Amino acid sequence: MPITLEGSCRCGAVRFALDSHTPHPYQRCYCSICRKTAGGGGYAINIMGTAASLEVTGRTAVYRAGLRADDGACETSSGRRHFCPACASALWMADPSWPDLVHPFASAIDTPLPVPPASTHLMLLYKPAWVVPQIAAGDAVFDEYPGESIEDWHRARGLWVD
Ligand SMILES: [Zn+2]
Ligand SMILES: [Zn+2]
Repeated sequence: MPITLEGSCRCGAVRFALDSHTPHPYQRCYCSICRKTAGGGGYAINIMGTAASLEVTGRTAVYRAGLRADDGACETSSGRRHFCPACASALWMADPSWPDLVHPFASAIDTPLPVPPASTHLMLLYKPAWVVPQIAAGDAVFDEYPGESIEDWHRARGLWVD
C-alpha cells in the first residue's frame, strides 16, 4: 500500500492528501523557479505522488513559470505550481505532460516523511554564489537534471513503497 501524505498551507485555507510510492524527500532543486517560489535557503524539495489520489479542500492559485534560458528553470512551462492565495505557501506542482503524477513540496507535507539515506542536488548551474549547497558524503550532484527519475531512485534503493 502506498503511504498517504497529508499536507496543508501555513494559514490552513488549503488542505490536501495524496498517495505516494516515493515519499523520500531526497531531491533538492536549485533552479530559479524553485528557489524564488519555495526555497529561501536556495533550493526546494519536491517529492511525488499519484494524481488520481489527490484530494483538495480549499482553493489554490496556480503559477505557470516562463522559462528563461539564461536564468535556469525547473520542469517545463506546462507545469502548474499550486499555492495558497491567502498565505502564499507553495503546495504542489502538476504537469499535464505527466498526468498520472503530482509533485508536492516536502515543505507542505504534515505527515512525517522518511529521512533519505542521501540527497540529490540538481540544477546547481542556476544557483547564485551565496547558496552553498550542503553536500554530504554519498550525495549526488548535477548541473541540471539527474538521469534517474524519482521512481528509479526509490526502486534502486529498495525504498519504493508498494
Ligand atoms: Zn494558506
Ligand atoms: Zn526546480
